Amino acid sequence: MIFDEGVRWEMLKPAEFLARQAERPVVYLPMGLCEPHGHVAPFGLDTIKADWLCDRAARRFGGIVAPTMAYHTHETGYHAPWLRQVMGDVNPRLCALPPHLILETLLYQFRAFHNAGFRAVVVISGHHGSQEDLRRVSQAFEDAFDFPIFMRTDPELVSKRYPGDHAGRYELSQMLAIRPDLVAMNRASRVTSDELGRFAQNPDVSEATAAYGNEILDAQLVAIGEAVAAFRVGENLPGKMISFRDVVPVWEGILAKRTQWATLNE
Ligand SMILES: [Zn+2]
Repeated sequence: MIFDEGVRWEMLKPAEFLARQAERPVVYLPMGLCEPHGHVAPFGLDTIKADWLCDRAARRFGGIVAPTMAYHTHETGYHAPWLRQVMGDVNPRLCALPPHLILETLLYQFRAFHNAGFRAVVVISGHHGSQEDLRRVSQAFEDAFDFPIFMRTDPELVSKRYPGDHAGRYELSQMLAIRPDLVAMNRASRVTSDELGRFAQNPDVSEATAAYGNEILDAQLVAIGEAVAAFRVGENLPGKMISFRDVVPVWEGILAKRTQWATLNE
């Protein structure tokens, strides 16, 4: 990913940060992880598209992009049988963390955003499958601190128009639009010929095109823009600082409902 340095929290100096924030006090959190996306694509496809969507959204609709969360849930919940099915005995080279770490971290990320002076959050996850739990955390923080949060996986942004997939026509089209230099479409046939097998690649990957990818990404940006416009952040007065201790009971409430977490149920 080549970041848009003018909208990235890490790359802004105080004067520019505060000016952007005053104009639109919205922060975007890109979430992804490294997991197999076939022989044709890089491991970080999910992270790369989340970064791209957040950078473009901040440039177009205002606001600042927070440091990327490039570790995510996997290996638990429905991902566990899926992994066995698409990988078999091959090492998938994942960078997953247990759900409780991801969810508790997300909660404290919201605290950091609130205390840094933002008034609303957009979370875009390029990795699909744990969105119910990410929203569970978002809702708990929103309820406790009156802080609006919009959380979607990228296919959810366009769910009525484009069927999302894993390392197939949909995701590889996005990748061809964002970073064609990282795609090796001439390796598409390795699904059947390579000793590593499918490596989680979808059979329709050869149908991917940059044009289709651009269509999907444009529609996703429109959806993010609608969410940002609906925030009405101008009416929110800056809240008081939230301490680490203030967040503890919110986390305890989420933890108490652990048996309902989608990331822990197959
Ligand atoms: Zn993916």
